[in-house]
Amino acid sequence: MEVIIQFAKRLGLVKRILPIITAISMLFSLVGGLAPTPGALDQVKNVILLIGDGMGENHLKLAKQSLGIELVMETMPLRGQQKTAAFGKAVTDSAAAATALACGVRTLDGSLGVYPYDIYALESYPISLTELAMQRGMKTGVVTTDSTTGATPSGFCAHTSKRGNAADIVAQQISSDIDLIWGSANSKTEQSNVQAGGYTYISTYTELMAINKAQKSFGQFNGNFIWQTENNENTPTLSQMTTKAIDLLDGDEGFFLMVEHDHIDGFSHGNDADKMVISLQEFDNAIAVALDFAQADGNTLVIVTADHETGAIQPEGDTYVYTSGSHSGVDVPLFVYGSSNFIKNGQAIKNKDLSIYVARSLGFSAEEFPRKVPIYWADNQAA
Ligand SMILES: [Zn+2]
Repeated sequence: MEVIIQFAKRLGLVKRILPIITAISMLFSLVGGLAPTPGALDQVKNVILLIGDGMGENHLKLAKQSLGIELVMETMPLRGQQKTAAFGKAVTDSAAAATALACGVRTLDGSLGVYPYDIYALESYPISLTELAMQRGMKTGVVTTDSTTGATPSGFCAHTSKRGNAADIVAQQISSDIDLIWGSANSKTEQSNVQAGGYTYISTYTELMAINKAQKSFGQFNGNFIWQTENNENTPTLSQMTTKAIDLLDGDEGFFLMVEHDHIDGFSHGNDADKMVISLQEFDNAIAVALDFAQADGNTLVIVTADHETGAIQPEGDTYVYTSGSHSGVDVPLFVYGSSNFIKNGQAIKNKDLSIYVARSLGFSAEEFPRKVPIYWADNQAA
């Protein structure tokens, strides 16, 4: 398909086939919907969005019970739920979920930052919160324990029909102008290409600590250690990366930072409860860093949520157990600090609306985000 599209583009056929694609899309997307219009939300200067990949409510209970700890995220003043569906599908993958959380649009599983009816972005693609922030001159960052080409980080810095298009994703990241992109190393991200794009390439904690505000940085760290609660083999932890990212991004312009702990999902696929709870603890450590900054700053919105639940964890006797190795469609936790009215306590909102509320909290209007599309192409409004 990609080859055909490229060929068609060269022949100038795109304009001719667009009406056909439009007609097809109308068949499965007849009922459009308008972007939600929440009341006037408290305005903030900075946003830190923390995503626990695969983290459901029962992951929290299992972690607290196993580790004998309380969770910092549960001290946040607003607590609700987030509905995680993909376009026309109750159980999402991380790519469609990242698109909803980043771009305010539900799309097809496997697609990143593109509309479900235009996955090759022939006509347009939805901009992400990262790009929206950059348009205003805000600082931006993407920090993850996953490969930097993973679905969740890529949803915040790429637009492509398939999450597996790693070379395409890397090329887009290198030309993205995002101030920092840090995560696990991967074979598609080459030091020379990163440097040619104006980024400082870093691969150790020592190099990370040496980065200053004038440098854009691309972090490729050791994926064997990056998920842990301790710094091992000169590999930073998620909370150390979060501390440094905030330090670099904080300034007059304001910033948007996405922080993801990917391994809550990864270890849940394998039903490895011991490593999952360590990952969740480190995710909570990163949340604590974000909240410390937000409390001191007084003008920062901190959002904690997941992209979906993984493992269908259920209560069994007096504990919690995995009942699957896949994603489930249950609502996931949503915690908010720094806004009195982002949600009401106990409220459940859609994944795509969460990003729209974030944009509104930063003062972006309905005209600015999400980008308007023809009504027959409008986003799927299924619960
Ligand atoms: Zn997964």
